[in-house]
Amino acid sequence: MKKEFLKKQKEKLEEQKKRLEERLSALAKRSVKVRGDWITRYPEFNGGHLEEEADEVEEYGNLLSIGYTLELELKKINDSLEKMRKGKYGICEKCKKPISQERLKAYPQAKFCKKCQ
Ligand SMILES: [Zn+2]
Repeated sequence: MKKEFLKKQKEKLEEQKKRLEERLSALAKRSVKVRGDWITRYPEFNGGHLEEEADEVEEYGNLLSIGYTLELELKKINDSLEKMRKGKYGICEKCKKPISQERLKAYPQAKFCKKCQ
């Protein structure tokens, strides 16, 4: 993989990371208002103590699932940046073959090649 390509991918990943972190912190602030808790903590979500005030619970549930999605995405990005440091970026985690650059361009944090996806 060319250095130039890697550099661009790294820039993309870091840009996305920044945006995700901003969205997560905005979300966490809203969550504090709704629940008096931080969304990123994920309290046991078994419904037991969340029965009061349905609207609030629903909003909290929404925030929680958005936050969860964002965090998963953030984790993928961090994993990719970690792989870059180790020189393993762009290798499919299943078949260990290189992921196509086209795919990486469209989705820099891809973990699997098109076949294994
Ligand atoms: Zn693969």
